[in-house]
Order: sequence, then structure tokens, then C-alpha cells
Amino acid sequence: IITSYNQTEDNINVVVRVRPLGDKETRNGESNVIQFPGNGQVLVDGKPGGPSGDRKPKLFSYNVAFEPAATQEDVLQYSGMTRLIEMAVEGFRCTCFCYGQTGSGKTHTLTGPPGLFGLKKTPYSDKHGLVFRSFLYMFKLIQDKPDVHFVLKASFLEIYNEKVIDLLNPGSARKPLAVRWSKKARGFFVENLFTVDCEELDDLIAVLEEGVRNRSVGKHNMNDYSSRSHTILSVHITSETPAENGVFLSRSGKINFVDLAGSEMTKKTQSEGKTLEEANNINKSLMVLGYCISSLSDSKRKGSHIPYRDSKLTKLLADSLAGNGATLMIACISPAKSNVSETVNTLRYAARAKKI
Ligand code: ADP
Ligand code: MG
Repeated sequence: IITSYNQTEDNINVVVRVRPLGDKETRNGESNVIQFPGNGQVLVDGKPGGPSGDRKPKLFSYNVAFEPAATQEDVLQYSGMTRLIEMAVEGFRCTCFCYGQTGSGKTHTLTGPPGLFGLKKTPYSDKHGLVFRSFLYMFKLIQDKPDVHFVLKASFLEIYNEKVIDLLNPGSARKPLAVRWSKKARGFFVENLFTVDCEELDDLIAVLEEGVRNRSVGKHNMNDYSSRSHTILSVHITSETPAENGVFLSRSGKINFVDLAGSEMTKKTQSEGKTLEEANNINKSLMVLGYCISSLSDSKRKGSHIPYRDSKLTKLLADSLAGNGATLMIACISPAKSNVSETVNTLRYAARAKKI
């Protein structure tokens, strides 16, 4: 079995994806510590004699568990992602997150390996990630409704050290954009953020491609920049459906794809200076995010104060987290024994987000 699932129509679904051991890990004789008892469960068995920590086997339960052999298409089909796209097209605000330590497969899951975009340039392959596949599915849904008029707009930003950078306008790296509250829209927004009208599928793909390219270049030679920043690719979908007497019913939906900073950054408090500030900011935003999501899934805490304002990440996602849209969290983990403590941290975070 590639996947085992336990899918629900809840507003929050949490799934886990375990990547395969890498070639180098295999050469180094790494062992695998993850097992799949079935029914969305993940068992971590650090086995005695390991280098550190608590070695008792631990069992966690999620909506879906993806084994290393799961394909990119499996993740689209069985994670609940298709439902998020359907809801966004119907006018709800939805968010998909990838959470996990650096090297666990977040970017692989969302975008796939670099240089694979543009349908015109590259044939569609099994490597294309969830964002690309979601775009195809979104266009299929839109084409199936010829009498509805859709307008799509996309933006792509990065939050680095609580500064918002427009990935479609690299000049903004020098002058980060402001996050403001809009009284009229009753929500937070990024001032002067570039939004691209996307009439065709290729326009959306171009946004993905351009943002990914800008994320990886011109980062002042800083190592592992991507492990320190969050990115949010958003597609706004407005539609007008003809109703009676020439009246139109208008809807406004949204889907956010969020590639989160490496979760291991939260532990690196022994670092100094700028890195400590970064670690604290990442720590805070991931903690606040986890808290916001778990508050939403916990009916006992409904109506209690949710601290969206405590980080830029949660401010910008507040409208989709708090509304009646849906949220999907994909927790990405490594199967390697040398990563077992970070893996357990990720699995705990994901389990807190939703109790199964
Ligand atoms: P992250 O974004 O979490 O830091 P990456 O997505 O960059 O991690 O993945 C780290 C490495 O593992 C990359 O070389 C990537 O191609 C590989 N990888 C991750 N997930 C998978 C997978 N499901 N199948 C094959 N290779 C994977
Ligand atoms: Mg990455």
C-alpha cells in the first residue's frame, strides 16, 4: 500500500509524507525508522543504541500517511488537496502548508525539482509538484463551468525575518513591503504587492516559475536561505455566475500554498546575533501558526482569542484560517535514523494541529 487514509470533510486535515532515503544516506548505511501500521498511522522506532534521546517507539495518527513510494499525483489525489481547490473555485479561502525540517521534502512536495515548469517547455512529468498539479485541476474545474465568468490573480511572496519580500518584484528585497489592516476588506494585506492577472494556465505557471527563480537567486551568498523563510503563493479566484433577471452572483475564493521555514530553526537558540533573531522569528511564527490551527480544530476552544496578529505569517493567512474555508497541513519527514529527533518534533507538531 502506498497510502493509508482516514479522510474527512473537516475544515482541517493533517497528512504526513515520508520521503525516501537519499542515495547518500543509503551509501552511508542510514537506517529507516518509520513504519506504517495503516489507517493513517505513523510509527517511529528509533531502535536502541541510537545516538540520542528517547528511544521508545512512538505512534501518531493523521488523516493520511504517505509512504516514500507515494507519487506526486498520489499526494494531489489522496491528501484532500482536490477538495481545497474545489472549495476555492466555489468561493472559499483555503490554505495548504508544508511543514518540516530542512531536507524533509517540503519544496519537493509543493513545487518539485527546479526547472520543471512551463508546459510549453517541459512535458508534464511525474516530478511536477502539488502546486502545478493543483493549477491543472483548477483550470479543469473552471473549463467545466463555461457560463461562469472567472478572474484569476496570483501573487507570490516571501517572509524572511518578519520582512515581506515580493517574489515577483525582486527589487522589494531592498525595501520590504508593509502589512496593513484594511478596514473595508476587514483583513490584512500587503501594500504594493504585485498581483498578476492569469487568464491562462501558462500565466499561473509563469508566476510559480518566476517566484521560484527569484527565491533562489540574489540572496547575498547566504547559505540555506530557503530554510529561513516562508513563502506564500496565493491565487485569488473571483467568479460571476449568471442568476435570474440578469443578476450575477459573485464569489471570491482563494488558495494559498505555503512552504514554511525549516522547523529545526526553532531549536537553534544557541546561535548568536542575527541568526538568533531569525530563529526567534521563525520559532514564533511556527508556534503561533500551530496554535491558530489547533484552536480551529478544537471545538472547546472555539470562540477563544486566536493570536493571528502575533506574526506576519498568521496575519496574512488569518482570513483563510478563520473563515469557513479548509486547511491542509502536509507534515514532511525524513525516514533516516539520524533525523529521528526532528522527525518526532514534526510529528508532534502535526498531531497537535489536529487530534485524530
Ligand atoms: P525541504 O524543502 O523540506 O528543505 P526538499 O524538498 O528540498 O526539502 O528535499 C530535500 C531533498 O530530498 C531534495 O533533493 C529532494 O529532491 C529530495 N526529496 C524530497 N522528497 C522526495 C520524494 N518524495 N521523492 C524523492 N525525492 C525527494
Ligand atoms: Mg525547501
